Amino acid sequence: MRILLVEDDPMIGDALQRALSDASYATDWVKNGLTALAALDTQPYDLVLLDLGLPGKDGLDVLDTIRARNNPVPLLIITARDSLDDRLRGLDGGADDYLLKPFDIPELLARMRAVLRRKGGSALPLLGNGVVSLDLLSKQASTEEHPDVALSSREFALLQALLIRPGAILSRSDLEDRLYGWGNEVESNAIEFLIHALRRKLGSHVIKNVRGMGWMVSKSV
Ligand code: CA
Repeated sequence: MRILLVEDDPMIGDALQRALSDASYATDWVKNGLTALAALDTQPYDLVLLDLGLPGKDGLDVLDTIRARNNPVPLLIITARDSLDDRLRGLDGGADDYLLKPFDIPELLARMRAVLRRKGGSALPLLGNGVVSLDLLSKQASTEEHPDVALSSREFALLQALLIRPGAILSRSDLEDRLYGWGNEVESNAIEFLIHALRRKLGSHVIKNVRGMGWMVSKSV
């Protein structure tokens, strides 16, 4: 999953970027509203974390612009602004949740999972297609033959990217975009290695290779 973090405070931004990376999210961090909009134009993100007090363009204006462009990206506001007016403007303006600073990282991560679940139409912290299921909390994957298999951070992120869109073929560069943020060096065979590792752990039928195009997991039956 690739996250856009919009936060101008260097200490908070740095702490959040580290925490998100520990939680297996690829994160791009921008520090003002205009850069955020430019990033959203060039890259598909799975979720946006948006501060409101930003230089360049206020967070609420950034939100308005995102929604005016019909971009449905899940978006969570993180701010110290606690007035009812700001909260209502944020939520009515199309934010999926509103989290007041200071907050604890586990609460942020839980709310991010909740927003992503709601957007994905599932009430449980579980993704699955009938062949393999992925627990978003424990990060374990299960198939009929291999229950509760522990995954590395990147293996988890790759399987999650496929399971969000069962039936869709993701190319190597689609997967690299979802697994690696800016400034991450991507080794040329990294995706193939991860696919290989996942197949070894879960069975080779779990991820299908579509020759010359990429990989997919089958649609739920
Ligand atoms: Ca700020």
